[in-house]
Amino acid sequence: SSVDLDKLLMNINRRSYPAYKDLKGSYQFPGYQLNIDHVQGDPFAAPSKLSIQVKKSQAGFPESMYKKDYRRIALQDYLTRQFGKAVSEYMFQAKGSGKSGLIGISRCGQEILERTAFEIDNGDLLVRFEVGFPANGRTINSFELKKILFDYLPEAVKKSLYFKNLNVNEVNRVIELSEDQYTIREELKRRGLTAFVANDSILPRESGVSQRPMRNAVKFMSPKSMEVELELPYRGKIKGMGIPKGITLIVGGGYHGKSTLLKALEQGIYNHIAGDGREYVVTCDSAVKIRAEDGRAVSHVNISPFINDLPNKKNTVDFSTEDASGSTSQAANVVEAVQSGAEVLLIDEDTCATNFMVRDALMQAVVSGDQEPITPFTLQARDLYEKQGVSVILVAGSSGSYFYIADKVLQMDNYHTYDITDKVKRVIQDVKSDAVEKAPVSVNILFEKQKNKRVFKARRLEKKRDQVKIKQFGKDSFSIGKENVDLKYVEQILDSEQTTALSYCLKILLEQMEVKEQDAGQCIDRLWKQIQERGLRSLCTGSYLPVSMAQIRRQDIYACLNRYRGILI
Ligand code: ADP
Ligand code: MG
Repeated sequence: SSVDLDKLLMNINRRSYPAYKDLKGSYQFPGYQLNIDHVQGDPFAAPSKLSIQVKKSQAGFPESMYKKDYRRIALQDYLTRQFGKAVSEYMFQAKGSGKSGLIGISRCGQEILERTAFEIDNGDLLVRFEVGFPANGRTINSFELKKILFDYLPEAVKKSLYFKNLNVNEVNRVIELSEDQYTIREELKRRGLTAFVANDSILPRESGVSQRPMRNAVKFMSPKSMEVELELPYRGKIKGMGIPKGITLIVGGGYHGKSTLLKALEQGIYNHIAGDGREYVVTCDSAVKIRAEDGRAVSHVNISPFINDLPNKKNTVDFSTEDASGSTSQAANVVEAVQSGAEVLLIDEDTCATNFMVRDALMQAVVSGDQEPITPFTLQARDLYEKQGVSVILVAGSSGSYFYIADKVLQMDNYHTYDITDKVKRVIQDVKSDAVEKAPVSVNILFEKQKNKRVFKARRLEKKRDQVKIKQFGKDSFSIGKENVDLKYVEQILDSEQTTALSYCLKILLEQMEVKEQDAGQCIDRLWKQIQERGLRSLCTGSYLPVSMAQIRRQDIYACLNRYRGILI
């Protein structure tokens, strides 16, 4: 019990740091259990891992708040924030060496994500966090730790993890919002929409480094022709723009808000917290942002519908490179996305390889098709949608060629959105079509399961498996063994804990692939099933969880494996 912990703390005071290891174990505090899951080896090492368990009877949350997964995730997210806030109120100036006294709790951004930091299991709560065990030099200062474990934490637990002490209205609103957001997602499917952007949403962010809503922004307003009205269980009737399946083009002058709208759609794969401005911006959750990514590695991808007959006679049916060009990288990104199950592709001309996207009539006339290895995206987009049901939302400012393939054309003008589809249709009637060419290779081949199996082996990571080290560099990259994996241009990864989860996914995949050739799709299917059934926690074996992980999508696992450079060609 906590009395034992108190004694232990007294005993080890002023001893050398490793004596802290004696604290490992579980201790009963009034109303909760404290677990010291792992103790750091020295004051400068990664902080110690602790967790707190509050039983259902103590926590007291009504079953209706966690029975459904989306409600549970929203509640977990809220409580993570509350616990973090409560602890930080007691945060004192950490005195001592290294990470003495630092308390680390997952920091949630604007998105509501499932995280290993907080689990609600049938009403029981489990919170995982870190504490830097205090020391002077390498001498234990257990009085400081006692303050944390016996003063600060009990207060924080009481304040933030017991239903009776929370602001009930606020908690209710969190649950209600999650229900409304869930309803919008269901309505998208029912109505054949790829996205919904509610009127009065605030899309732009405060700055390039802040994801908070911009103040005094022009609020989003749907063009009348695209307005749909949804009935949400709590919020009631809500109107906004429903983007139908198909090909939607967003045009407009520079600086008129095109990319801002697309960014909101990219991030609408996740739900947002109240006050974000995008609470009611919801996108089909398999949507994938596509961009050029020159320099990336590509392994065994059939990019032939977009690129064939390369001058060096390189095979584009089973294409691999260490250093892709703008157009080949974007082709690979499209193929990999649709094969990972993306039902919507989001593309911004700002980050595209122009030659991948369009070739205008004049260029077609001068350089004949058989001299040009690239089949521009505009020639394949219609088939992608009509034959395979993959929708496209495309931002474009410069080329009219896109008009020919669009079902809907939106114009952004001073941050206002107009539906100019009819006008565009009238104009292009009188103009000779750009699309004189036909695509030589059909996109349909990308969807033939048997032919698109990607079977390969990976380079051995390390001689001994337990020596494989993962090192993470923020949200954008990590290394595994000697290989660096760059996820900077996988733009829908929004949180560094997602990157952590992906690094552990990759480790599991590579353990299978370094032994023998494997079907990458099958390996990912198995892993995905494991995550669905046993949670992110299961990505990590061992008695405690050394890292914090956040929810990822199946598409992100593909994206991560696809960028790994140790795949044998
Ligand atoms: P585009 O892609 O059309 O060139 P952006 O989407 O990049 O334009 O927007 C240009 C600038 O305008 C950005 O700084 C953005 O934050 C700001 N902005 C975008 N939408 C709004 C809005 N609704 N209200 C106010 N400012 C906005
Ligand atoms: Mg732009």
